[in-house]
Amino acid sequence: MNSLDAFANSKLFELERASLRRQLVETRRELEPEEGPVAFRGGRKLLSFSCNDYLNLSQHPAVKAAAIAAIETYGAGSGASRLVTGNHPLFADLERRLARLKGGAAACVFGSGYLANLGIIPALAGEGDLILIDALSHACIFSGSRLAPAETRIFRHNDVDDARRILNAERGRFRHALLVTDGVFSMDGDLAPIAALAALCAEYDVWLMSDDAHGLGVLADGRGSSFIDGSKADVLLQMGTLSKAIGGYGGYLCASQPVIELLKTRARTLLFATGLPPASVAAAIAALEIIENSPDLTMKPLAKARTFTKHLGLPAAQSPIVPLMLGTAEAAMAASKILEEEGFLVVAIRPPTVPEGKARLRFAFSAAHSDVDIARLAGLVAERIPFQPEPVSCQPFS
Ligand SMILES: *Cc1c(COP(=O)(O)O)cnc(C)c1O
Repeated sequence: MNSLDAFANSKLFELERASLRRQLVETRRELEPEEGPVAFRGGRKLLSFSCNDYLNLSQHPAVKAAAIAAIETYGAGSGASRLVTGNHPLFADLERRLARLKGGAAACVFGSGYLANLGIIPALAGEGDLILIDALSHACIFSGSRLAPAETRIFRHNDVDDARRILNAERGRFRHALLVTDGVFSMDGDLAPIAALAALCAEYDVWLMSDDAHGLGVLADGRGSSFIDGSKADVLLQMGTLSKAIGGYGGYLCASQPVIELLKTRARTLLFATGLPPASVAAAIAALEIIENSPDLTMKPLAKARTFTKHLGLPAAQSPIVPLMLGTAEAAMAASKILEEEGFLVVAIRPPTVPEGKARLRFAFSAAHSDVDIARLAGLVAERIPFQPEPVSCQPFS
């Protein structure tokens, strides 16, 4: 055996032993009018509570038709980086719509949310700059910060006082400072204290960036986590994805005109990666059209999540994401298996996606879940799953 294969085998063995090996499971998703979001896995039909397709727009006839029409008009791929010949005519329309919905002056579409964070953070934070990150932020925010020659500090989850302590001690040593947080935490479902962070950032001249991957389309009439209190919090950089409630694929940033201009000439993941295919851009345009015209639809996923938390006597959900803490990876896998045997797909979330000892079930609620199914699921959880009553999402805002 060559040393590469030996290396791979020993890594796999270690992961297997720690219940941390992941497997790709072929899954075909559908939206069934009577049943809701179903997933076919291993020959079985399951009701899925693990899709981030909160509004089920990936299956919406108008969204699919828009993608098909774009392929017919523009072809299957964009052929080059947007800076070369890949900037097909649909991008400008999508960027205008995103900027309008998010209350930004301008927007830039990236290949994915992950690529957006890998491009934005190093383009803005350089040598002599400081990056502050909430400890539970998404992996790609940490990846983006590692690509920047700036210094990174991590503040305790949703702890504005901890961020203030760091800024107090260190802000003076740095030229620019960027604070990055999830707007909705992807594995905990809680919200960042965005107004308090905006006030802190204004005080210390820090650029606030939120990753609204799980807010767009499902919070504040679809406008996302910067709009929770009825007005727009002062978030200079609103980043997000087109791959969750928007139902397709891609990433974006909404910001001021000069910031967007700068990124369009400096973000390496925009410059050196091929532009999104026309179908993805067209699908996102159609999905945004639906979101802007359907405030009732955008409120449903959160309402469904709250139905579930109410059944279980948990604190009211703040977003369509509800974690149920199990502790060990083994416990989370066993819980997932129990629900799967009863026809529910709720994938176990294990380290390194979540911290050691915080393995969990993560429930993602969609507009198409029925209250009857939610009640049955909650009953099953209450009866069969020995979850820990205090989810980390209950950590109070400071
Ligand atoms: C899913 C996710 C991303 C990555 O977005 P993709 O479009 O899937 O690459 C980034 N940030 C957060 C918080 C996410 O949940």
